[in-house]
Amino acid sequence: MRKPIIAGNWKMYKSFDEAVDFIEEIQQEVPSPDKVDAVICAPALYLPTLVVGAEDSSLAIGAQNMHFEDEGAFTGEISPKMLSNVNVDYVILGHSERRELFNETDEAINKKVRAALNYGIVPIICCGETLEEREAGQTEAKVARQITKALKDFAPIEVEHMVIAYEPIWAIGTGKTATAEDANTVCCAIRLAVETLYGKDTAEKVRIQYGGSVKPENIEELLSQEHIDGALVGGASLQPASFMKLLEAAA
Ligand code: PGA
Repeated sequence: MRKPIIAGNWKMYKSFDEAVDFIEEIQQEVPSPDKVDAVICAPALYLPTLVVGAEDSSLAIGAQNMHFEDEGAFTGEISPKMLSNVNVDYVILGHSERRELFNETDEAINKKVRAALNYGIVPIICCGETLEEREAGQTEAKVARQITKALKDFAPIEVEHMVIAYEPIWAIGTGKTATAEDANTVCCAIRLAVETLYGKDTAEKVRIQYGGSVKPENIEELLSQEHIDGALVGGASLQPASFMKLLEAAA
């Protein structure tokens, strides 16, 4: 019932030429948006070019972060208004690398989600636990807390269109994946947190991705789980061949 969504997160990788070539190579092969939503979240500097490059395909382009203000004296920042100006469709918000390395708070993420919606940009809201938190049995409480804060003060209709990404921090870029069953349990806990806030109908509609060492070898098992509606993918989204395999598995 929920359409799968596969999003590549290129992080701070790829030269400009490599980025352009990637889009050119896959654009005609991306499966129809009836079957799967395909997104590449690229470095900000490349976004306008990639949006134009992907114009005639089913591929959508996303950013990896943004500020929540429309404009102002915020040296080095990019606003939702700017992303919308260049027709960016998605934005990753609250990735664990931004939370940990750039001190992003739950409150800032909540403002960013609001700002993204104001400009018609679909937020991909990230949450996830550290290894210590997992070992202490705090995983579900942690992600529920992060999602409750990120989703504060919206209307149910707005929440329906959001995407949530569950990314255990210990699984990101490490080659370690949560088992499909464990990932599903946490995604189910996230859905319950959404239900508590906005009711069952909304919770049934919101799409929840798993992220953390997703690759062609494990995507099918992950997607076969009831509460996993897609993947947020770092490493395996950098090569056209592996990204295409992920899309094909989801289509
Ligand atoms: P990974 O990264 O697929 O390389 O583990 C996932 C992410 O950080 O979104």
